[in-house]
Amino acid sequence: MRKIALLTSGGDAPGMNACIRAVVLTALHYNIEVYGYQHGYHGLIGQEYRRLRAKDVLNIIQRGGTILRSARCHEFKTEEGAQTAAKNLNALGIEALLVIGGDGSFRGAQHLSNYWDGQIIGLPGTIDNDIAGTDATIGYYTAIETAMDSIDKVRDTADAFERIFLVEVMGRHAGFIGLNAAVASAADQVLLPELFKDSENTVTDILAHIEGVKARRGDSSYIIVVTENLWPGGVTGLAEELNSRSGIECRPVILGHVQRGGSPVAQDRLLATRLGAHAVEIARSGATGIMVGEHHHQVVTVPFAQTWAERKALDPYLITIMESLFDLLQRP
Ligand code: ATP
Repeated sequence: MRKIALLTSGGDAPGMNACIRAVVLTALHYNIEVYGYQHGYHGLIGQEYRRLRAKDVLNIIQRGGTILRSARCHEFKTEEGAQTAAKNLNALGIEALLVIGGDGSFRGAQHLSNYWDGQIIGLPGTIDNDIAGTDATIGYYTAIETAMDSIDKVRDTADAFERIFLVEVMGRHAGFIGLNAAVASAADQVLLPELFKDSENTVTDILAHIEGVKARRGDSSYIIVVTENLWPGGVTGLAEELNSRSGIECRPVILGHVQRGGSPVAQDRLLATRLGAHAVEIARSGATGIMVGEHHHQVVTVPFAQTWAERKALDPYLITIMESLFDLLQRP
């Protein structure tokens, strides 16, 4: 194998740089040239690339974001877009393309394989952890840490004024960040898409829980973690609903894009390094159409189609613990 290419696509995630570094250094170890495409699939269509050498990946393991930049590219979804990308990869003599991104990026990789004969390997890079076939995705651990840290800070001010806060965390349509950050920060309630039933019962349950907690510990702070896209109007809408139903003042806080940024925690750097190195190893063995992930601390490979075929489940034991803790909080 002589030449491989690499790109980052979709939402950026802390640890993408660590993964780029591992890919580049492992490839160079085998005397393989590495080309980095800028701006995801957009750069592939525009032939926007640069050669990556060891010096390009110095001092990046600790940096959030991605040195290759990322983008969302609608043109790539078309037949013409993928054909242009294939032509460009062939013109550069690329034998394997490594894609770091989420499930959308893997769908893109599958789409490209209809027009390009080279090998394509995916690396799971998204804070949402919503990719089946891998226990964790690159960036997920850092996002939990950031959300937990932010909720701790909200708790400080909530405590001082004995206030109720609704904290919205990212996750697109998955509750991984919400569940883990809520348990780790001892939130009083959490609303997750996987456990959500209906709006009416949810409001009634929240108000009953607040009353129960109040009866037990008097006026105190109360934190509800809510996954984005769950409530119409987000946490602002839910705060208004609770307010109008009970007269209790609730303050919404949207953590937003801070959850995507920051220096990756050690777990993300290690995951990114293991997966990045392994992706090059399996590219050398001729593999294609697969994502490299991790399951039970072992590196695994999963066909692209399986990464989005089923909804990845939250840890049921963590849900049980969380529910019993919430229950205990309000018991007399
Ligand atoms: P994240 O979940 O962190 O946002 P993602 O990889 O899922 O990451 P998307 O915006 O869904 O982010 O996808 C990234 C890019 O992949 C899209 O902009 C598009 O170029 C390509 N892509 C997504 N879905 C498809 C598809 N069905 N066919 C072809 N290309 C696709």
